[in-house]
Amino acid sequence: MNLNALLDQLNPEQRQAVESDAQHLLVLAGAGSGKTRVLTHRIAWLIAAGLASPYSVLAVTFTNKAAREMRGRVEELLEGPANHLWIGTFHGLAHRLLKAHSRLAELPDNFQVMDSDDQLRLIKRLLADMNIQDDRIQPKQVQWFINGQKDEGRRARYVQTHGDWFEETLRDIYTEYETVCQRSGLVDFGELLLRAHELWLNNPELLAHYQQRFTHLLVDEFQDINTIQYAWLRVLAGERLSLTIVGDDDQSIYGWRGAKVETIQTFGHDYAGTQVVRLEQNYRSTSTILDAANAVIARNPARLGKNLWTEGERGDPIRLYAAFNEQDEARYIADEINRLIEGGTNADEVALLYRSNAQSRVLEEALIHSQIPYRIYGGQRFYERMEIRNSVAYLRLILNRQDDAAIERIINVPTRGIGNKTIETLRTIARDQGCSLWQSALFAIENKVLAKRATNALEDFMLLISDLEGLVQEKEELGEMVKIVNEVSGLIEHHEKEKGEKGRARVENLQELVTAAQSFAGDDEAATPIEMLAQFLGEASLDAGDRQADEFEESVNLMTLHSAKGLEFDHVYLVGLEEGLFPHKMSMDEASGLQEERRLAYVGITRARKELTLTYAESRRLYGSEQFNSVSRFVKEIPAELLSEVRLRSTVSRPVSFGIQEDLAMDAGGFNLNQRVRHPMFGEGIIVNAEGGGAQARIQVAFDDGNERWLMMQYAKLEAV
Ligand code: ATP
Ligand code: MG
Repeated sequence: MNLNALLDQLNPEQRQAVESDAQHLLVLAGAGSGKTRVLTHRIAWLIAAGLASPYSVLAVTFTNKAAREMRGRVEELLEGPANHLWIGTFHGLAHRLLKAHSRLAELPDNFQVMDSDDQLRLIKRLLADMNIQDDRIQPKQVQWFINGQKDEGRRARYVQTHGDWFEETLRDIYTEYETVCQRSGLVDFGELLLRAHELWLNNPELLAHYQQRFTHLLVDEFQDINTIQYAWLRVLAGERLSLTIVGDDDQSIYGWRGAKVETIQTFGHDYAGTQVVRLEQNYRSTSTILDAANAVIARNPARLGKNLWTEGERGDPIRLYAAFNEQDEARYIADEINRLIEGGTNADEVALLYRSNAQSRVLEEALIHSQIPYRIYGGQRFYERMEIRNSVAYLRLILNRQDDAAIERIINVPTRGIGNKTIETLRTIARDQGCSLWQSALFAIENKVLAKRATNALEDFMLLISDLEGLVQEKEELGEMVKIVNEVSGLIEHHEKEKGEKGRARVENLQELVTAAQSFAGDDEAATPIEMLAQFLGEASLDAGDRQADEFEESVNLMTLHSAKGLEFDHVYLVGLEEGLFPHKMSMDEASGLQEERRLAYVGITRARKELTLTYAESRRLYGSEQFNSVSRFVKEIPAELLSEVRLRSTVSRPVSFGIQEDLAMDAGGFNLNQRVRHPMFGEGIIVNAEGGGAQARIQVAFDDGNERWLMMQYAKLEAV
């Protein structure tokens, strides 16, 4: 595409940003205003205009999916491959650098990335080893602490404890954790960034090399950058490199993970002379959707303030559906989606967004029931599954015998007679000798520490791993490697023996891992098959559901609001809009927490292009208990004229209303319209409406607290007063 054609796709402000010759550029703008578009066009423009070579551009985005899309966009604009561009997430780029310079980073060549599950397991083991059995020190809390310190760029030796017992204990665990990770060649997510930063600081020549190489650094979603990421970027940028930063303070949603929204405000101070460009036209949503988003976010104080408008059409009102429970909510959505798909909508253009991962299960069930294909981004999907993790652990162990987390996982999976006692003995040896579990096993065998049977079982296991290594090395193709490991390890057989659907699904998943390996394309063509395998495993633990999603047919997208950032869909369902769920109860009582929840609502609403549906349930079974939540404040913050309430419909398997008196008398032991009743949670109120019969019977009560609520007779436990 020639330069003019490239610029013709932009409005004047976007164009100004793309063509800017300022050393540093900050594009600050609301959702859907074309920030990401500016970034991709700027990359293409810099290259097409000869101001940068493809080798000299480094771009950072927030997810692997976004990175792939960005690369694809740039290639389209340049009408050719853009292999040499460095585009990735902070974690992905750090991983790449550490792999390339592992010795300078003081890591073994075959270091492995731990995901948060591995990390937690390691911490649990560490607490046991250190004999810390205090209820005040929970493994999750230790994990939170260590990750928090790393996000701030702080090693254990720099943690300030103020003589506090609690902090001192956490620091000591962190210290020990660092030692064990270093010894086993294990690197957690935070460590990737911390090491990559230290790599610059400790190796001025290497830094100089990259500063020579790169001329332009570009960052999308800058509002969610944390301290260590910014530090890494700043060191790399040095005095000379050019920075292009795009972001939206209203979409900062990772404060809980150490992101610093202030950074977007201080950027201009850190880099004097930064040119600031604001974009105000939204190209994504209908004006109804945009008005709703603007009304919600307007409630937040201390915003940088933006004015978003659109020339787009008004569009349909936002639909609001009050379900009576989570099943009804899921069924309603599945029915709606079916209707859309039958009407010719591509399932890819439909998204279901929720606040917490656990909400997906009911939705998934309803979709499966309606035979609607779906995929889940991030979270508990493919690479998180037990059988996949097991297979990956075998592969990791083949590459690196010192990988304790991997051994822990599969030493007795499938069962091979290595009991807890044996494993405990190995851990003790590892602790006493300061060595890995694998070395402990060698030691235990040599010194006949274990009973004969345990020794035999252990020897068989170690032989199996060596055999697998041999088999894997014979293979040229990644998929073949994974396949042979699945089979020879006994994993496939193990799950085939399991009864029913579950076992079958697990076997299918293991097969799907082979497919994933087959379609994996590393970013280094010259890599040997074994190096490719290492890259594949690195990515597998780096970005869970992200990868697998693309390989599916047309399907509905399920994801948390957090993973929806930067994406857009024609039809969006925002579910579970209830106080306590969203805003989440953990963040509700504190102003800053609530503001972050509101930004999350803003992110959710602005994902929709044409149609937005909001749903909530009056009663919900979640985490194993029944909750009665009122409708989310975020719904109330949307002006009523933008909303249209969906009336109960007969397609949701619910009997039509019967005569109220008779029905109520039948189902609820004689309640009448206008009768005063007491509810165990909501207090007293008056029955104002009723419908349905049998298990579906519902009544509406106007409570004295001013709220009218629909209640399921079955659960409501009403008393006459
Ligand atoms: P978010 O804050 O959600 O990340 P964004 O600011 O990055 O949004 P983009 O995703 O770049 O916005 O753009 C939103 C949509 O508007 C995209 O579909 C994009 O192609 C389209 N768009 C942006 N600018 C223009 C333009 N000048 N002409 C036509 N379409 C545009
Ligand atoms: Mg964007």
